Parts: sequence; structure tokens; C-alpha cells
Amino acid sequence: MLVDTPKPKVRKKLPVVNKDFQLEKFNWHRVRRIIHVLCFLIFVALPFFNVMRFDIPRQRFYIFGNELWINEFAIIFFSLLFLMFVIAAISIMYGRVYCGYLCPQMIFSEASINLEERVKTFVSKYFAKRSMAVRAWIQRIAVYAVLGVGSVFLAFVFISYFVEPRDLLGRLLSLDIVTAGGFAGAVVTLITFADFAFLRQTFCTTVCPYGYLQGILGDDHTLVVQYRDPEEICVECKKCIRVCHMGIDIRKSPYQIECIHCGECVDACKLIMGKFGKDTLIHYAWGEKGELLGDKKMKWYQRIGVRDVKRLAVFAIILIYGTSLAVALSLRHSVLVQIAPNRATLYRIGDDNRVYNTFRMTLANRGKQEATVKLSIDGLPDARFALDAPEFKLASGEELKREFEISVPKSDAGIEVNHFRIKAVATPDSTEDVFEETFIMPVRR
Ligand code: SF4
Ligand code: SF4
Repeated sequence: MLVDTPKPKVRKKLPVVNKDFQLEKFNWHRVRRIIHVLCFLIFVALPFFNVMRFDIPRQRFYIFGNELWINEFAIIFFSLLFLMFVIAAISIMYGRVYCGYLCPQMIFSEASINLEERVKTFVSKYFAKRSMAVRAWIQRIAVYAVLGVGSVFLAFVFISYFVEPRDLLGRLLSLDIVTAGGFAGAVVTLITFADFAFLRQTFCTTVCPYGYLQGILGDDHTLVVQYRDPEEICVECKKCIRVCHMGIDIRKSPYQIECIHCGECVDACKLIMGKFGKDTLIHYAWGEKGELLGDKKMKWYQRIGVRDVKRLAVFAIILIYGTSLAVALSLRHSVLVQIAPNRATLYRIGDDNRVYNTFRMTLANRGKQEATVKLSIDGLPDARFALDAPEFKLASGEELKREFEISVPKSDAGIEVNHFRIKAVATPDSTEDVFEETFIMPVRR
């Protein structure tokens, strides 16, 4: 019986055209290194310049230089939601570029691997006469020492996102591990050290939920790194596997959960195939069957990732959301005034034969200079504050909560519920808040 045997693959002979082929200046490894350095600088700078910090002891949220108080929870909530939405939108359009290019975990994991390799080279060079066991010990101690110092620094920066950096430095210098800030710093240092000394990229495939989220967010038009070999000329050099920090073979599938779409294998294959005068077999592409990244035949908006209505909607939402947030931040008053009636007692009648209603007031100066809030009454004849002066001075960052009374002469002809307004004018911003209130009079019989 004749059996159909599969036709053997005929691999075209590849002439070696250029042994000294070098990668062009633009390569993904180089791009990643530049972005990693920029991200590191941004990561360090954000909390120090109040661009982003959730100051837990002071209960303040800093975003782009704006100081939000915890009682402005709505803006804080929508700011965080916006950041999450932007990360999700990036994932929909550009796949795992966050993992490969921006994620601090990935950046520091790769940096610790590079550091280890450099230390190994250094020790092998300068301690060549020592036995292998001694060299291994020197390497280990040197790597752990450098990672230890790096972990203290990284933990310090990380905790600075939650505690004011100068305050934190004081705790660090006094070796404080008793207060919450100091204790958190010590724990984060240990975790950081364990992470970058031992766990590294294993974190991405075991602990981090973002990689798994990708499977839900990506679709047929999402940017992926993929292997395409129409001429079947792969030389099986396996360089693409050797350079991959995640230890996978991209030729199996572009949708492996470990793949962070970093593009290192693209460069590796480009270097190997370049020596044969061929183009890389691994590319960035818009989906498994989509066009290659940078394909000149595509329209400009397709080239930046707007490839269907869904992506257009995502862009529009980011634009509208971002603009609304910016407007909300610019419109917020630096002095917060809240006034509400205290209805525990509807009214009281004073010895001076006047009727008194009680109100609760909260004032908060969220600005950087001293502020004054002046109250006035509008629409309630003969009304007056039971205060020495309805004017309050607030230092920067000061909050004031108190009750005050408003009185009107008792009159049998008056009505029970009187609508009126309390105006609060704050300087130096000259902002005016108007509160619609009611004044309760005794019920006439
Ligand atoms: S680097 Fe390119 S040629 Fe080498 S094994 Fe990978 S895909 Fe094949
Ligand atoms: S397979 Fe390629 S793109 Fe994916 S993680 Fe490995 S090197 Fe990066």
C-alpha cells in the first residue's frame, strides 16, 4: 500500500553576501534602551516634582502639579480612571508595548540581568587567576551588593509616591522601621531585592495580571510581533530564542502569553538574515494577518493604529475624557467652601427676641498662599451673622470646620421657611461661591 509522505521542504540556498552585516542605527533594542532610560528618569522625577503622588500621611493627591485634597475624591477617582483607561487603550491598539517598553518591572529586571553579566565579565577578567569557586563567590557578592544598594534607592522612589520624599529621607537616615512609612520602606526594599535578584521576568508570567488581560483587550488589528516566512528560509539559528528574555520561540505563535512584544527577536533575525541579503522573518504587524508596521501602502491614520471604528472611538474618548479632566482641574477653586444647615435643632429664640438657625461650614485653603474668605447674606431682610466678623483667614494648607448662627428678628408676620443665599468670596483668587439655603422660623398658630 502506498502511503502519501509529506513533501520535504526545499530550502533555497542562501548565499552569504555580507559577513560584516550590521544592524542599522534604528533597531528596536536601541529604541528600547533610550525609552528605558527616559522612563527611569520619569519614574524617579514624578513624585519629587509633585507630578504624581498619593501622599497618604497628608491625605493629598498630586497630579501634574495640582494638589487635590481627599475631599475632592471625584477628581482623584476620575484621574486614576483616566490613567487606567489610557493603559487599556494602548493595549487595544499597540498590544504589549507597555510591558516591553514602559513597565518598571521589565526595565529593572533587564537592568539587573545586564548588571549581572557585566559583573561576571569584570570578575572573569580581573580575577582570572582565582579558582572558579572563588570567582563565583566574588560574582555573587558583588551582584548582591549592587542590587542591595539599587533596591534601597528604588524602594525609596516607590515609597515617595506615597510619602513626601524629604520626610521619607529623614526616616531612612534615622533607620526608622517602626513608623508605617519606615516599615513600608524596609518591606519594599526586601521585596525589590528579592524581585530583581531572583524573580525578574518570572514575575510577568506568574504574578502580573496585565499580561493575562491582554488576551481580552487585543483583537485582530492589535500590534503584535510575529514570524512570517513565506519562502521558508529560516536557517534555524535560534538566535531569536537566545535573545528572548522571556525564553520563548516566537515562531510558534505571536499570541504566547509570555511574549511582551519587545522586538528583540526582530533585531536578532534581521542581523542573521541580513548576512544572507534577506529581510528579517520576524516583524511587528497589525494582527496576525495584517500589514507590517510602517507599510507605506497604508493610510497615515492606519499607520498610527487607527484601523477601525473601535479605535477611532477609543481615540475620541481619550480626547474628550482628557480635555474634561484638564478643564475640571483648571476650574477648581484653590479655596474650598462648603456650607450646609445643621438641622439637629430647627431654630432657637434668643434673649434678644431674634430667631437663630445654625449652619455648618468647612473652609480649606488648597492654595500656596494665605487666603481670606468673607461671608455675606443675600435675600433675608435684617439677617446677621452671630459672629464677630464673618471673615476667616486661612494659611496655606489650613482647614477650618466650625458652626455659626444666623439670626433675624422674631416676627409674627414672618413665614416659616425662608429661602436666601449665603455668599462666600475668597481672596486672592476672587472666587465666589453662592449657597442656596433656607431659614426656619417658628410655626405660626
Ligand atoms: S533568528 Fe530568524 S533565522 Fe534564526 S531561527 Fe529565528 S527566525 Fe529563524
Ligand atoms: S518573542 Fe520576541 S518579542 Fe516576544 S518577548 Fe521574546 S524577544 Fe520579545
